[in-house]
Amino acid sequence: MDRILELADRHHLTVIEDAAHALGTRYRGVHAGGFGKIAIFSFHPIKNITTGEGGLITHSDDPLETRLRMLRFHGIERDAWKRYGKSGNPDYDIETPGWKFNLTDIQAALGIAQLERLDEFNRRRTELVEIYREELKGIPGLELPGDPPYPHVHSHHLFVVKILSMDRGRFMERLADYNIGYGFHFPACHLLKYVRERFGVQRLPETERAAQAILSLPLFPEMDDADVSYVCSSVKTILKGSRGD
Ligand SMILES: *Cc1c(COP(=O)(O)O)cnc(C)c1O
Repeated sequence: MDRILELADRHHLTVIEDAAHALGTRYRGVHAGGFGKIAIFSFHPIKNITTGEGGLITHSDDPLETRLRMLRFHGIERDAWKRYGKSGNPDYDIETPGWKFNLTDIQAALGIAQLERLDEFNRRRTELVEIYREELKGIPGLELPGDPPYPHVHSHHLFVVKILSMDRGRFMERLADYNIGYGFHFPACHLLKYVRERFGVQRLPETERAAQAILSLPLFPEMDDADVSYVCSSVKTILKGSRGD
């Protein structure tokens, strides 16, 4: 972030943080979302906490907030509480075309309850990652995620390994044989159909190499230690088989 902020400063650019994964993450003591002009967190079902769907925008810009509040609900500044609540005024005006992006009160209630459990969830994720790192270290053909060299708190949204010694598709089939779920985060953006058609095919060899090797192993707070050990021993068996020894 230091380098991004320095670059943005030099060129008068606005930094918008995609902090979708980063609830609970700190970089040199500062929580994600504390750097740019705006940051966006996701509460999609697979994120560290969820509201079913939805998210959160943090900012340090009051006029922007007024505009965001308006845009999220048809361009109407007055929400249902202001229009239908006690001594509310049912009148409204549309000041600008907007969307229907408002989080419902029911989702917000879920989010508040989830937020109270965030530290517990992230602590458990950290414990599970420690088991993964311990049990998977030094396995030929498997690369573990890097550990950043600067002071940080990681919220461990995903545990992404690289499969280097066998075809990733084949590896996934073998994981399924062991009844182990997996994820794929993320395909190379520049190779997606829309991006290719819109911007033309670019070659990004390092990105493509990484995109072909990455695989997310199961990681969620309800896993118990034995679940992680089962995944680790299965991964070892699969990779060992691939080497023919
Ligand atoms: C999940 C995710 C998003 C999108 O979040 P939504 O709540 O689905 O809009 C954006 N960026 C990253 C890196 C994500 O993982």
